[in-house]
Amino acid sequence: MKRAILTISAIFLLLLFINLLIGLANTALLAPWNHGARVLESPFKTLSGAVHIHSRHSDGSGWLSRIQQAARNTGLDFILLTDHNDTVLADSVSGSTEPVMLAGAELSLQAGHLLLYGGPRVRDGFREQDFGGQQALLDSMEQNSGFAIVAHPFHPKISWKDSISRRIAGIEVINADVEWRNDSPLKLLRAIFALPFYDHAMNSLLDMPHKELALLDSLSQRQPVAAIGSVDAHARIKLSKTMFWRFPSYEKNFRLVQTALVVPDSSTGDSTAVVEALKRGNTIAGYAAFGDLRQISIWLDSTDGPLPPGSVATPGEGPVLRVQTPAGYAVSVRLYQNGIRIRESNSNDIRWPVEKPGVYRVVVLQLRRQFPFLSRSEIAWAFSSPFYMHSPE
Ligand SMILES: [Zn+2]
Ligand SMILES: [Zn+2]
Repeated sequence: MKRAILTISAIFLLLLFINLLIGLANTALLAPWNHGARVLESPFKTLSGAVHIHSRHSDGSGWLSRIQQAARNTGLDFILLTDHNDTVLADSVSGSTEPVMLAGAELSLQAGHLLLYGGPRVRDGFREQDFGGQQALLDSMEQNSGFAIVAHPFHPKISWKDSISRRIAGIEVINADVEWRNDSPLKLLRAIFALPFYDHAMNSLLDMPHKELALLDSLSQRQPVAAIGSVDAHARIKLSKTMFWRFPSYEKNFRLVQTALVVPDSSTGDSTAVVEALKRGNTIAGYAAFGDLRQISIWLDSTDGPLPPGSVATPGEGPVLRVQTPAGYAVSVRLYQNGIRIRESNSNDIRWPVEKPGVYRVVVLQLRRQFPFLSRSEIAWAFSSPFYMHSPE
């Protein structure tokens, strides 16, 4: 009997070890694509940024200087700091250009968590009712030309419970702090096992945000809405009342998920340009962990000239959607119209005429070989904000 238990345990451990080794081999195959082979002819340039960051002023582990250094180390163009119910950093960061730093707050509302930039100054102890509720907060945000983003709409504990106001600029289609929560214990164990070996060990936990994209599709039918990729960085895992582990570091967070802004080539990329692009939804959200998002160009060639994601265009003859990725990258590019997939291509240089009215968005997947069969698996890489083809009324 004892022998049988020992044998079964040994077989179980052996199988687990083999599984972890396969996981390790697959992690090796998930290194970011940054081959530098960029033959992109976009009339726009792309700014990369980290959105939704907590500092020591709430439950993050780093002071501002550490976060700024992490952003420089990872080559980001902008960051958006959002401490819980606290805009204390708003004054310290204004005018920063390396990188551009914006500071708003992540407000805990009845409805859920809202990233608010340009709203009223708030400090710890913030209570929604003291500010007249969500609508009054959005009024204040509008008066200051700010913007609001719904954070982690499908968080297992803090989901968004209200309808989404027309004045909200975007939703988090990715939130790195929520992303891993839907993964199986075995998948998490594989990622932890790979940590000492690979800087990108957490890549195996990043998947297609189906529910968030469905929400983006339904919302964009009635209002413009930006696709935002958030890190929700804390760089802090609580170990005891007084002790914490700085993991995953701000650098690791910033390399994981980014929001890319598609701005005119002539843009200075200053804080005004960053705020405007976020407000208008000129964005591509994605997993930078699989490759710098600046390697992807998505725009619409229209009679009004080239337009970035988030733009409104007139349907009819002429508009051509362009999607470029570096030559040689094995990708699958998908076009959605009103939430329904209508086209797909493996080309690195796509020209799709879009003539019918509707709301269009693009998803870029990477095709990567994965063990045990070395067949190509689809890896979600980037999600554009919608283009709106509305007939003039
Ligand atoms: Zn939150
Ligand atoms: Zn947060």
